This record gives sequence, C-alpha cells and structure tokens, in this order.
Amino acid sequence: MRRAAMVLAVTLVAASGCSGDDGGKPAPAVSSSFSAGSDGAGDPYFPKYGNGGYDVAAYDLKVKFDPKTDQLTGTATITATATQDLSSFNLDLSKLAVSAVTVDGAKATSAASGAELTITPSGGIGRGREFTTVVEYGGKPSRLANSTLGDGGWLETATGAIALGQPESASTWYPVNDHPSDKATWQLEMTVPSGLEAISNGVQGPTRDAGGWTTWTWTESSPMASYLSYVVIGQYRITTGTHGGKPMITAVADSLPAGGPAAASIARTGEITDFLATKFGPYPFDANGGVVVDEQRIGYALETQSRPVYGPSFFAGGENETVVAHELAHQWFGDSVALQRWQDIWLNEGFATYAEWLWDEHEKVQTVEQAFDDTYENYGWLQTPETTGDPGAGRIFGDAVYQRGGMTVYALRKTIGDAAFDKLLKQWTAQHRDGNATTDELIALAEQVSGKQLDAFFQKWLFEKAKPPKP
Ligand SMILES: [Zn+2]
Repeated sequence: MRRAAMVLAVTLVAASGCSGDDGGKPAPAVSSSFSAGSDGAGDPYFPKYGNGGYDVAAYDLKVKFDPKTDQLTGTATITATATQDLSSFNLDLSKLAVSAVTVDGAKATSAASGAELTITPSGGIGRGREFTTVVEYGGKPSRLANSTLGDGGWLETATGAIALGQPESASTWYPVNDHPSDKATWQLEMTVPSGLEAISNGVQGPTRDAGGWTTWTWTESSPMASYLSYVVIGQYRITTGTHGGKPMITAVADSLPAGGPAAASIARTGEITDFLATKFGPYPFDANGGVVVDEQRIGYALETQSRPVYGPSFFAGGENETVVAHELAHQWFGDSVALQRWQDIWLNEGFATYAEWLWDEHEKVQTVEQAFDDTYENYGWLQTPETTGDPGAGRIFGDAVYQRGGMTVYALRKTIGDAAFDKLLKQWTAQHRDGNATTDELIALAEQVSGKQLDAFFQKWLFEKAKPPKP
C-alpha cells in the first residue's frame, strides 16, 4: 500500500470478536479429540483476524451486486484441509447474512457473532481431510471501520462499488479466512447490471449476458492473501493487451480524462515490471495491469494481486510512475512472497520504497544513493515512536515501516555488497514464491548469501529507534 498525501478522518467502530458462545447449537456427535477451530489465526498484532483449524486451498465465488438497491448476494465454495480434528470452524464475514451452508454436500448449521461465522458440520472433520464448504449469503455490504489504519472493504460509489483495503477487506463481501498466512487460489464470477464493468484479480475469462445482467469472470491461479483480492464495479475504460505473453489489462474510470496522467502512468506497467524483474527475478503472476478509480475516499494505492488499484490523487499533479513502481514491486514483495504475520510488514513496504528509488534512478530523477541520503537526512529519528521490525498494530503504515524500511534495504545492500544483495533478492523471491515468509528468514538468507554475521546490523536497523551509522 502507498498512502497519498492525505489523512482520512474515520470513526472507530470496533468489530466485535467472537465470544466463543456457540449460540446454544447442539454439539455435533463426534469424538472428544474433535474441537472447535480457533476464531483467530493468532497473529500477534491482530489475533482475531482469520481463523484456525484449517487451510484454504481455493475460493470459488459467484457474487451478484445491484448498485440500485446496494444488495449483494453470493455463493462461496471454499475448499480447505483440516489442520486439526474439527467439530466446528469459523469464517470471517462482516454484515452479511447467511441463508444456507453445506459441508461436503451435507447441511451444516451456522451462527454469526459480529464478523465471525461459526459453521458446525453434521459430523466432525478429521485432521488432514479436504472438505468443501458452500455458503449462500447476502445483504447490504459495508466497510470495516478502523480509525488507525483506515476503513477497508466494500464501498458504494456513484456508479458501482469498490471492495478494497489493507489489512482486511475481503470479509465485507465474501466468507473468508481473512489473514495473509492462509493463501488460496481464487475465482470470481461477478454479476452486475449490463453496461457496468467489473474488474478483479488475475486472468479474465469470458463474460456472459443474460436478462440485463453481465457476468464477469476472473481467475487468480497463484495463491493469494485475502486482502489482495478486490473488485471494482462501475464505468471504466478498459485496455486489453498482452505483455511478455501474459494478459495485460488496465482500466481507468470513465470520469477521469482519456489519455490523461492516470492512463499514461499505468500504460507503463509492462515496462516498469520488466525493469523490476531485472532486480527481483521473473514476474511471479500470469496476468498484470492496473486500475485507477475516481473515488476520493480511496486515498491510497494497493498492490492487489496481479493488478494494483490506484486512488485518483496520485495522478492529480500529473504522471506518477513512482507509485506504479511501488505497487508493482509488491507483486514480488508482499503478494508472491506474502507476510506470515503483520509485524513483518517492512518486508513489503521497505522493498516497495526501495523500488521507488530504483525506478527514480532508472528515470534519472535521482540516484538510489541520493534518495537514501535524502531520507536519512529528513527522517524523524527522534520523533518516530515505532521501530521498523516491530512497529505495533497501529503503526504498520508508519514512517519506520516505509522510510526506515527502505533505508534498511539500501543499508543492507551497502553492507553485503551488490553481488550478494542481487543474489539475496532473487533467491528470496524464488524460494518463497507463492508462499509466506518472516523477517527471521530474510536475515538467515542474507547471512547465508553474504557469509556475514548480520545480527548487529538488523538489530540496529529493525529493532532500535536510534539513528544507525550511515553505511
Ligand atoms: Zn506499499
């Protein structure tokens, strides 16, 4: 994510976590080794995000949205494997009502408490068993209010809707294990009134028209963290082509000027991707592109997998390829190699900031060293309250993660040398492709490729607030 230079004023309405009360539903007839899956994935920063007890392999979503009534209806087919003997399990679903649930074709009961949906199958699910859950649901979707990090999720717009946000957004429009540690492949059939576009992740399939409605199909076949899924519905100019043999689809809101700075900036997506691939290794996904929305409430750009979404303010002053470089860098750092826990978000934002500097150097704006020096000069060494490697849940989008994170990456390059650094980046993106990773794993690989002891280096840059010596 990259914030535009504006702060959204929002109101806090804390999402209520599951109380653990099963609502008096009868206990399933299973042996005592079976127990309820946890109502959180156990992230130290956001313990109630996601759920425990299973691992999702695939989401298959059929969703219909009518902007006239703001009503959404959906069928989610979720294929998962139990990681414990499960008597019941949770999905995250916010503000939408469930009308029917089956597990492996048999009717299951469900109980909603806040954004937690507890599903109790007719019999227990043994550890290691693959099972398929089908959830029928609907209602009027709305955002997840978050005063410190910004609202995420479903947003009605003048011509349609935008479902977008980090660190959580997906649960506002489909039932999901809403934590990046559980990546899954993803397919969306999005039905909207004919005449509107519906743009999402991955490769576009055929569209179908029936009775005044159009169904758009999108498939993301590389495992994806849930916050990187999105849909944008409205009036868009779509440009379709290929780049490097893969589909390249860009879209700009009709209300933004044709051939204006937004269109010109994202038109360079393929070129910027190729440049970054020389630094980071092969582009990891089978589609590419970008979407520029004309919605002031989207005051950021987000690295939604294989096709980032950009708020309009990035292009208000003219072309801005730097933000495109930032979001495309995330396709390697954040999307393909995803977080295991939110604490390590500098692994995403530090490298994306460094990528901005790389692109600016490529464009002869300034060298990476000049960008580092400028940041080092102007960073709030004394004022910034958080560290880079453990910023705290409320500061995952703070300066220590972005600015100091970017400096950490460059300082690492200076410390281990260009050859080892190049090897590190390419091995990192190859080894963890389509997976998850942690700061400790990056430190271990950096030490391995460089043959250097780097504990003191990372301790200073990541876990202390004081100004480290210039490398
Ligand atoms: Zn970012």
